[in-house]
Amino acid sequence: MSELVLLLFVALLALIVALFTVPFLRRNIVSKLALRVFRKLLPKISQTEQEALDAGSVWWEGELFSGKPDWNKLLAYPKPTLTAEEQAFLDGPVEQLCAMLNEWHITHERHDLPPEVWQFIRENRFFSLIIPKEYGGLGFSALAHSEIVMKISSRSNTAAVTVMVPNSLGPAELLLRYGTAEQKNYYLPRLANGTEIPCFALTGPEAGSDAGSIPDTGIVCRAEFNGQPDVLGIRINWEKRYITLGPVATLLGLAFRLYDPDRLLGNEKDIGITLALIPTNTPGINIGRRHFPLNGVFQNGPNSGKDVFIPMDWIIGGQDKVGQGWRMLMNSLSVGRSISLPATSVGAAKLSAWSSGAYGRVRVQFKLPVGYFEGVEEALARIAGNTYMMDAARVMTAGAVDLGEEPSVISAIVKYHLTERSRQAINDAMDIHGGKGICLGPSNYLARTYQQTPVGITVEGANILTRNMIIFGQGAIRAHPFTLREITATWDENKKRSLQAFDAALTGHALFALRNTFCSLAFGISQRLIKTIPENVTSETVDYYRQLTRFSTAFALLADVAMMKLGGTLKRRERLSARLGDVLSQLYLCSATLKRFEDDGRPTADLPFLHWSLQDALYRTQQALHEFLLNFPTGKITRCLLRFIVFPRGLRCQPPSDTLSHQVARLILAPGEARDRLTAGMYLPTDKDDPLALLQEAMASAIACEPIEARLRQAVKDKTLTTQEDEQIDQALAQGIISEGEAASLAQMKVLRRRVIMVDDFSPDLQQANHPSEKAVV
Ligand SMILES: Cc1cc2nc3c(=O)[nH]c(=O)nc-3n(C[C@H](O)[C@H](O)[C@H](O)COP(=O)(O)OP(=O)(O)OC[C@H]3O[C@@H](n4cnc5c(N)ncnc54)[C@H](O)[C@@H]3O)c2cc1C
Repeated sequence: MSELVLLLFVALLALIVALFTVPFLRRNIVSKLALRVFRKLLPKISQTEQEALDAGSVWWEGELFSGKPDWNKLLAYPKPTLTAEEQAFLDGPVEQLCAMLNEWHITHERHDLPPEVWQFIRENRFFSLIIPKEYGGLGFSALAHSEIVMKISSRSNTAAVTVMVPNSLGPAELLLRYGTAEQKNYYLPRLANGTEIPCFALTGPEAGSDAGSIPDTGIVCRAEFNGQPDVLGIRINWEKRYITLGPVATLLGLAFRLYDPDRLLGNEKDIGITLALIPTNTPGINIGRRHFPLNGVFQNGPNSGKDVFIPMDWIIGGQDKVGQGWRMLMNSLSVGRSISLPATSVGAAKLSAWSSGAYGRVRVQFKLPVGYFEGVEEALARIAGNTYMMDAARVMTAGAVDLGEEPSVISAIVKYHLTERSRQAINDAMDIHGGKGICLGPSNYLARTYQQTPVGITVEGANILTRNMIIFGQGAIRAHPFTLREITATWDENKKRSLQAFDAALTGHALFALRNTFCSLAFGISQRLIKTIPENVTSETVDYYRQLTRFSTAFALLADVAMMKLGGTLKRRERLSARLGDVLSQLYLCSATLKRFEDDGRPTADLPFLHWSLQDALYRTQQALHEFLLNFPTGKITRCLLRFIVFPRGLRCQPPSDTLSHQVARLILAPGEARDRLTAGMYLPTDKDDPLALLQEAMASAIACEPIEARLRQAVKDKTLTTQEDEQIDQALAQGIISEGEAASLAQMKVLRRRVIMVDDFSPDLQQANHPSEKAVV
């Protein structure tokens, strides 16, 4: 009897092994069954979703999804660098432009850029950074584009947005990709030299985040146009809002849904989203009114069109491109999103780091620079650590674009995380500056950036949506090594090809999941088992590569578990999707930071920045995985099992220590190579009366005077010097406690400090200002 049971058991085992290892059996039994289940579970992907999924390319995030990132590959990507011509543009026209910008005058007095600034921007072809030289543009790299926007944004958000928008998703980008030769030859030179001011209108009152649902319509018809009878064209009606540069635009890029009820173009009645370029002086267009976006006075406003007739050759790409607008937009989105908002976010963060470090050293309370207090150190460290990591991600992502990538998932990661970290940095900077940050006026170098922060959060995919829906939702399909193959195979109409492709993808996926389960547990027990670390890294960083590999493996496993358990409903389980997206994002930000450290030549002085940002991000990664497991809808046993596989030794990552935060804060509280590298590329004014130049001078003076002040304090303690501060310098000089030169330095420092800490005040009607520089007294 027992022999029979044994035989049956062996036969069953052999059958199971055969089912999975003999291709014919596996394909026709296991995969066939699974395919049926997939067809039931997987929602059919709409054309709009398919186009979004197909857009862009997969780059480093594919490695992070693989569970075993190839770090040598990351470090072998070339270090992004500027050409001599690009550097000269930054040192020349960009510096000149920044020197012309006075954000208080722009935002409070003029409510626009001054005419000479508009003219300078046009003449120096700032609108043509992405337009190739053959069309009269500057034809710059993504890195140069990013550096230019970053520098301008550290000076004026209004100017940065004005320069950024024509170089991002808009008429130029769309023409370059899809325009007919005629359209390119006509419009690109005019856009390059500023003859045309472009804008692009997608959003309307009823379609914001859900932009694919725009209700604006175009009807194919025949009409008289420019004196010609019976021209084939489109009659469009639309209502748009929030359109940047719209009020001053001469050329409107417009998205609308095209219908052909009389079948003049073919058999389709509902042709789909279509893009056209329309001169704004075309009859029927109502444009020119402005919105007032949070005191930012970049041109932005609504526009509408009533029965506007356009000929077919105004469609971007001509008649052949009708109905392809959504795909065109999605394909173009990733490049601009990889550059513009990351650049403005880093500009704001650098301004926060630079000014908060200096102000923290100049502003004294309780007889100490406020930056020395532990509470302020915490905020300073957060600003510096965030800025270091953000800048690393900005540069690496721009570098990817320069390598020819169109990284759609990464563009969403940097859009979300850099704007959020920028928000954190500017909030911290405002706290450190206290009332100095709050009182508006020409001496306030922070408040407009603070006020403008939500703009970056809202545009190009509002942040809640981007985090909860896009990053993991798109990553899971695009960057996962097998999902897209499985989905494509599931919906392949050719049954034989569908089964074959599905079988290959499913087998690969099963082995992938097994490996990740085993490795996640093994690496959680001992990270020493991880062998895929790059060659020649230092002892300072080697453990970070190990931890990242470990989290990448756990992430790949949990991504599969989530997709298996929740299938198509994962799309609606946004909070779970957000946490997995957070893990993927932190892994990307950490990768960029390690690469930056290597590309910079491993500067020892930067190590505190590196350690702080990596430790903070690894801790966030761990917490995201932990919260995912806590909230994952499953039974207690499965949850415990998953938890054991991912965290066999518990939650071991810690946030940066107070000691490390102290070291980081000290690095930005004084001039030095690490502070300079951290804030490199932001605009530093040369006019000595500029509030930032004054702050720089006051910081140097405060530091130089600290030993002298210490001597005075000691003398007060020893009761050899009066406690009356305004008499101390003279008395100390008379008693020989300080030299004449030191007395002069102290007096000068007090003037500078006073000028820095003072804020503007106004007449009761807020019309006439008194500026601190005019009131400075010792
Ligand atoms: C200053 C400024 C400039 C702009 N410039 C342009 C431009 O030049 N051209 C242009 O076409 N558009 C432009 N926009 C529009 C911008 O892209 C939209 O504001 C954006 O798409 C969000 O739309 P909404 O403001 O209507 O927010 P809503 O769509 O109403 O969203 C409200 C909130 O709900 C969240 N949300 C929505 N759906 C989901 C979801 N499924 N899951 C989770 N959260 C969700 C959003 O994240 C957001 O937090 C601009 C907007 C502003 C404010």
